[in-house]
Amino acid sequence: MIEKDINYNFNMISPKKVMYATYKASNNFQYRSLFKAKSDILKSGKYDEKELNDIIASIFDAETARKYIFEELKGKKPLMLEEIIKLFDFPTENIIRDIFYLKEQGYIEEIFEEVQNNKLNYGESSEFEKGVYKYRVKEHTENFRENCFEPVSIVYNNSVCCHCGLCSSICPMNGIELTRDYLYIDEGKCINCGLCYSVCPQSFSIENLSHFIKKSDPSLKYSVGLGYYKNLYSARTMKYAIRKVGQDGGIGTSLLYYLLNKKLVDAVVTIKHSKDYWKPKAKVIDKVEDLYRTAGTTYVHTPILSVLDKTERYNKIAIVALPCKIKALSKGELFPVKLPLFNKIKYKIGLFCMESFPYEKLLKLISNKFSADPDEIIKMDINRGKFVITLASMEIFSLPLKECNLFTSDFCNYCNDYTAEIADISLGSIGSESGWTSVITRTKKGEEIFNGANKDGLIEIKSYPDKKPLQSKIEKVAELKKVSCKPIDLHVI
Ligand SMILES: Cc1cc2nc3c(=O)[nH]c(=O)nc-3n(C[C@H](O)[C@H](O)[C@H](O)COP(=O)(O)OP(=O)(O)OC[C@H]3O[C@@H](n4cnc5c(N)ncnc54)[C@H](O)[C@@H]3O)c2cc1C
Repeated sequence: MIEKDINYNFNMISPKKVMYATYKASNNFQYRSLFKAKSDILKSGKYDEKELNDIIASIFDAETARKYIFEELKGKKPLMLEEIIKLFDFPTENIIRDIFYLKEQGYIEEIFEEVQNNKLNYGESSEFEKGVYKYRVKEHTENFRENCFEPVSIVYNNSVCCHCGLCSSICPMNGIELTRDYLYIDEGKCINCGLCYSVCPQSFSIENLSHFIKKSDPSLKYSVGLGYYKNLYSARTMKYAIRKVGQDGGIGTSLLYYLLNKKLVDAVVTIKHSKDYWKPKAKVIDKVEDLYRTAGTTYVHTPILSVLDKTERYNKIAIVALPCKIKALSKGELFPVKLPLFNKIKYKIGLFCMESFPYEKLLKLISNKFSADPDEIIKMDINRGKFVITLASMEIFSLPLKECNLFTSDFCNYCNDYTAEIADISLGSIGSESGWTSVITRTKKGEEIFNGANKDGLIEIKSYPDKKPLQSKIEKVAELKKVSCKPIDLHVI
């Protein structure tokens, strides 16, 4: 739905205005730093010359459009996105993206205006019924300087980094190392291009943007908890080998099996269990038989997107990831544009998630609260508000989730997405019977692979006369996550 190629048409604009916007665009910090460091970037080997030229050219085009939009909005009253879109002959998605970027640069401010008896068609969201977002050019003093994007150490130092790993995958200088425990930026290599900040899911939000884009799609339903979606199902695998290893209904593994088998992708990025089962590794997998070592949930967070730069030899890939990581991918498709990596990501499979755990804290939780040996655990589960572990002896221990709060990852406090709202298809256990997976299809692609796997006899779908119990259980927890989410406020530490 989102245009990945810059497709601005400047032909209809007076040459004088385009020249002025071009002149202003040449000062953009991102364009300048990449242009200046071109030979160092090529030496680092992350991008070849054509890729780098494409990135630089599209950043310049986008900045030219932004400077033009900014000049045209000067002196106008606060406008809703719908109203702004009508003013320009650019693709809708590009205009929305540019408004958000201008906001982050400090040129535009967002105002929330309360509206009494709002009759606008914003779905059933109580959040949206209360009012509308409007945008206007900020008043600037003479010594105003636009915000240059900080390296993502600012996100890490504020303890909100979700360890997705995308920054290290796209850094043009190969200067960022991110593990599940720490982030290291090699200052000797950093060229301050801000690409890492642009794609970071925790730097500036794209939520209003994706809401806005999706709400104009009449094929989608909406609820506050589920976000925009096509359909809701319970399903399970028909493959015995997957049923044995899958976490719930084995739908995650079955979909990957389907995608690889049908050659809809040439590789999938997911986690692979190692000898130390609870310390998973992000892996690129291109053989169906290797999928059995990936099935099942580990609640330890993993920088899964850090292996994206190891997918060079593949053209089409699918990714299974938690909501925060899916958000990172969706943001990377939008900002800055033209990073070659994003063209090959064909399917995003999201997992529901209330919280994840750092490895060390998970071990502490297990020894403090359960007095169990982690090596004896064969399964962990989060279900019905409880954290549950099953030992090899088939003994089962459980603990209310509230008592696990001290052990969860800090960044989970800043996440309001329980059901991976920007994925093509989202999977979780809540709401379905044991041994079944709750499935939310969200895009045409997501619905197609789900139905395709069903048609091929790989999965079975439970048909309900009434989906309400399934839906309301998911919605209740998802709304709880939204209510308890803290706002992110980044400052230099
Ligand atoms: C940290 C975490 C928290 C979760 N919290 C909830 C919750 O609160 N409520 C709920 O209903 N569901 C939750 N889930 C999802 C649930 O545990 C199942 O993953 C989901 O129901 C799919 O099950 P399945 O049997 O269909 O998938 P499977 O066939 O078992 O496939 C699961 C896929 O997920 C991948 N995976 C497993 N662990 C991770 C990880 N840490 N990071 C990235 N990928 C991973 C596997 O490699 C595999 O590809 C959570 C999952 C995780 C990883």
